Amino acid sequence: MTKVDYLWIDGTLRKHDGLPGMRAKTKVLTERFNPRNILSFPNWGADGSSTNQGSSTDSDITLKPVAAYNVKKIDSITSDYIVLCEALKPDGTPADGNHRKKLVDILKKEGNDYWFGFEQEYVIYKEYWHLGEREIEKPIVQGMFYCGVGGSVTFGRDVSEAHLDDCLAAGLMIYGTNAEVMPGQWEFQIGVRNIGDTEATAIHFCDDLTVARYLLERRAETMGYYISFACKPRKNLNGSGCHTNFSSKAMREEGGMAAIKAAIDALEGKALEHIEVYGMRVKDRLTGDLETGKWETFTSGVADRTVSIRIPRSVADKGYGYLEDRRPGANIDPYVVAHKIIETVTGDE
Ligand code: ADP
Ligand code: MN
Ligand code: MN
Ligand code: MN
Repeated sequence: MTKVDYLWIDGTLRKHDGLPGMRAKTKVLTERFNPRNILSFPNWGADGSSTNQGSSTDSDITLKPVAAYNVKKIDSITSDYIVLCEALKPDGTPADGNHRKKLVDILKKEGNDYWFGFEQEYVIYKEYWHLGEREIEKPIVQGMFYCGVGGSVTFGRDVSEAHLDDCLAAGLMIYGTNAEVMPGQWEFQIGVRNIGDTEATAIHFCDDLTVARYLLERRAETMGYYISFACKPRKNLNGSGCHTNFSSKAMREEGGMAAIKAAIDALEGKALEHIEVYGMRVKDRLTGDLETGKWETFTSGVADRTVSIRIPRSVADKGYGYLEDRRPGANIDPYVVAHKIIETVTGDE
């Protein structure tokens, strides 16, 4: 017998931080199946009227497995597998909150050579307080916490390190972690590393980010913490973003700077449309200070952390690589953001 967590995104934004809601329930599989073949995991159902994905008189949604992760080595989860699911309405179309299908569809049209690297920032809370809040003298002066070392400036490293191990155990494309500027704030990145990952498609990066968020919540549960993905948890401190690094094949090849510049021009033309899908209350974070650009003004530059789009120094030196969209907030739906960027950069309407 095998225990499988069926994970899906619901039709809500979480009240405390605006993250697209996650739901999961556990199925005991009695039949034999092949974990490497996603089709061998059966569809399941759920009550959509309780997840904002159906009405009470027509409530059944279908959970259709789309990616499986072996989590036997993760001690905060007793199930053997997580299957990420798409939630579907009775007629087979995506239920509210399921934006994955749109990304699958645009990739079919535009080709599958886009890479995404998500820098997921988050804040760890204990009850009302973010970690460090009660230990540090007020007003909090930021400066010592980013990549900080030592108990006077780091709060919650046990969470970040356990989560990194969990992501590795589940086989996610986790790239690294760091302590962030606000006390109790951390970052992990999902994206290409060196080998293997370079075969991944945009869908894989988004799926892995979704599962990484789930693993973080499960780890935090066991430690008596909760996680906030709010864009601006505290008014005068750094907000939490999800910088989205992006490249097409043309950008990654010799001379790719021309494609990077063209993409930046296209992004400038749709700047406000992008802000609208870059997370609940992202405007509170994009104020023009604390390492952000103003949401109303589109800017770009090399190695500049006050802009909308940054070209990393190493990319500018080589003349090819990728760009970093610094605007997305920590609570984005990665499928929506990836779709929007591909749509804008390819000119696909
Ligand atoms: P920062 O200097 O902005 O803090 P990080 O080191 O935290 O950057 O994250 C860099 C991200 O960029 C990683 O997620 C990585 O996978 C991603 N990345 C690296 N190369 C590419 C590329 N060619 N296309 C897309 N993403 C990339
Ligand atoms: Mn980073
Ligand atoms: Mn960061
Ligand atoms: Mn960044």
